[in-house]
Amino acid sequence: MKVRVEVTADRRFSTNSYLVEDEDTHDAVVIDANLEPDLVISIARMRKANVRAILLTHTDLDHIAGLHELREAFGDIPIAVHKSETEVVAKGQPLRREFAPIATQLENVTSLTEAEPYRAGSLEFEVLHTPGHSPGGVTLKIDGYLFTGDALFAGSIGRSDFANSDGQALVDGIKSKLLSLPDDLIVHSGHGPATTIGRERKLNPFLT
Ligand SMILES: [Zn+2]
Repeated sequence: MKVRVEVTADRRFSTNSYLVEDEDTHDAVVIDANLEPDLVISIARMRKANVRAILLTHTDLDHIAGLHELREAFGDIPIAVHKSETEVVAKGQPLRREFAPIATQLENVTSLTEAEPYRAGSLEFEVLHTPGHSPGGVTLKIDGYLFTGDALFAGSIGRSDFANSDGQALVDGIKSKLLSLPDDLIVHSGHGPATTIGRERKLNPFLT
């Protein structure tokens, strides 16, 4: 299997949405639904990708805002999210006490569970629970790539000043589950540029 990754970012929050595609079968998923889903939709169409699922690293507004448009484009494909945040998407419950809920009530929401692989067509993701920015934060691993959401960024880590954040859990999870992985793994974050595990282990000032 050869995995191809396409990156798009919205202009408002610089939130990344990724198209992850198996180049042999063209099965694909979208990871996170930023505010400009038309960008990832047009890449998927151009590549004639069969988008099989939408995977969410967590459910802050800027990562789920494009869900309705993605569903319109790709049909009623599953939306996979850690079980502690499924109700944000399925029932419109607010993730944060600090912010009002947004109107998301979507069918066909499935759970991601740590150590249970998630399959979408020919793609298979490993699920690592990396909470702390939010309770259901996950990192998705496939081939040589990690999608870390708002847990780990190039040179930084996610916010943990919300009522349901946990800064210690965030750092512990990154150190034990991500920095223990091989140096050359490519890290695609929820915001900003890509990096590698080796680079973050050496240079990330929040993790030394
Ligand atoms: Zn974010």
